[in-house]
Amino acid sequence: MDRPTTNDQRPPAKDHFLTVVDFIVIGGGVAGLRAAIGLAAGRVLILTKAGPAEGNTGYAQGGIAAALGEDDSPSLHAADTLRAGDGLCDEDAVRVLAGEGPRYVGELLEWGARFDRDERGRPALGREAVHSVRRVLHAGDATGREIGRVLWDRVRALSTVDVVDHALVTDLVISGGSVEGVRFFDREGRLQEARAPRTLLATGGAGQVFRETTNPAVATGDGIALAYHAGARIADLEFVQFHPTALKKEGAPRFLISEAIRGEGARLVNRDQEPFMTRYHPDADLAPRDIVARSIVREAERNGPVYLTLRHLDEAYVRRRFPTIHEMCRGAGLDLARDLIPVGPAAHYIMGGVDADEWGRTSLAGLYAAGEVACTGVHGANRLASNSLLEGLVFGARAAAAMQERAHPAALKADRIVARGSWLAIRGHASAPDREPAGGTPELSAAARRDLMWQRAGLFRTHTGLQTALAVLERAESQPFDAGVEGRRMRNLVTVATLIARAALRREESRGGHFREDFPARDDRAWRVHVVDQLERT
Ligand SMILES: Cc1cc2nc3c(=O)[nH]c(=O)nc-3n(C[C@H](O)[C@H](O)[C@H](O)COP(=O)(O)OP(=O)(O)OC[C@H]3O[C@@H](n4cnc5c(N)ncnc54)[C@H](O)[C@@H]3O)c2cc1C
Repeated sequence: MDRPTTNDQRPPAKDHFLTVVDFIVIGGGVAGLRAAIGLAAGRVLILTKAGPAEGNTGYAQGGIAAALGEDDSPSLHAADTLRAGDGLCDEDAVRVLAGEGPRYVGELLEWGARFDRDERGRPALGREAVHSVRRVLHAGDATGREIGRVLWDRVRALSTVDVVDHALVTDLVISGGSVEGVRFFDREGRLQEARAPRTLLATGGAGQVFRETTNPAVATGDGIALAYHAGARIADLEFVQFHPTALKKEGAPRFLISEAIRGEGARLVNRDQEPFMTRYHPDADLAPRDIVARSIVREAERNGPVYLTLRHLDEAYVRRRFPTIHEMCRGAGLDLARDLIPVGPAAHYIMGGVDADEWGRTSLAGLYAAGEVACTGVHGANRLASNSLLEGLVFGARAAAAMQERAHPAALKADRIVARGSWLAIRGHASAPDREPAGGTPELSAAARRDLMWQRAGLFRTHTGLQTALAVLERAESQPFDAGVEGRRMRNLVTVATLIARAALRREESRGGHFREDFPARDDRAWRVHVVDQLERT
């Protein structure tokens, strides 16, 4: 048997502990928890790097989409998902999501999820952009918190599931080409190891790569970096969704102002209080997210700050329907129902991730991925609003089913191209930056890196800007990182930022969340493919 390896070359510490279980789940969001419930016939270890409820799931506001309405069907939900995905969705994955969605949301209702009800006692359905009917179940404006509550209650009742929080996974243990466990720092900073024949990555998103983000501090793309360094395929990282409406007030956090607000009639207005979105897209305020986000930036450049207004809506209804956002605005000195709310775009969701099939299998045997960290292709180039909580539920449950079968890696799908040779060598062509970012090099500060990504690899991208970003990031990547917790966090962020910039530089077209000013049109002839990065082992 091969000696187990990790991509960490340090010798085991003296206080190194070993735990052996049947299944390891990294992450305590919707995907990890739903998977753990499905795995409970074996011994399960859930590792989360912060408090149990900390992750994107707890922040989700608007709701969860499922074809439950009388005027709806899985095929209509699938059609809307494909439309949002801008020609790049994996149709099999979309069919699974829309087809199995009602079953898994029904299960949540059976388990006691307290979603808002209509006057006939059925789950009330909200409307969001690009959904052709009302299809979004919600619990006020804190839907993710409610789903997390239900799933955590269930997980805590399972005697076979152990949860270790404040456990930062830093490496995958690989033996004979299969993933056989993980190394992690526990809350005391001790290095530990856990072994299992199957490991699930459910580590969520990577919004912290960018200066402006709606994501919490834990969203540093660790799962993508862990998988990449272990040799797994990573797909579609150029596709980042920038949410159009995060609060944009000096000194206040960039918290999300849900799209559900525009679904209920809120309007975007400019400094002259003109509802400007009709000038940019026929669907106006409910146009696709990437279009609204770029329109806000263009309008702000033309005419100063942009606002959301709800003044024309019933004040009591606004407060009742959006209590969390109302409270957050109040904390920033604003009244959601009466004031103009200053907004701007922020990185929100990453469509790309660890390349996975419809059963969560990755290209490495023993390694599975579900939720935001995975790229099943279900979102294509742009995610349909409220599809990601559903993705976590459906694909978390499916990954759990696959993890109980014989472990084998996912085959490379026909529409995936592996970036090898000259494409990986884009790094070799990167020119020197035309100006050093704030903070200078070689020490690229976290703030400078996030600013660089926002400026050069954000909403508006160009060849020159991306080359500049890549040159700086690659210099940062070649610096030694501290072996402790902070060093690992930095390494992961730099790896993910580099992969995003490289993928964005490679794709010479505009599609979904990826907009190239130098290639503004969608090019189906050359680019209707998913490009996959894989570390070349020397
Ligand atoms: C503000 C906001 C609002 C949103 N609103 C909606 C919405 O209305 N509807 C919708 O469908 N989607 C929404 N989304 C997106 C959605 O919330 C996420 O895509 C989804 O919750 C991701 O779930 P997940 O289980 O994949 O990851 P997460 O919920 O992010 O969980 C990730 C877990 O992984 C752990 N972790 C990460 N790295 C490590 C590591 N190295 N070691 C150990 N543990 C680790 C974290 O601690 C955490 O427990 C929203 C997102 C945000 C940020």
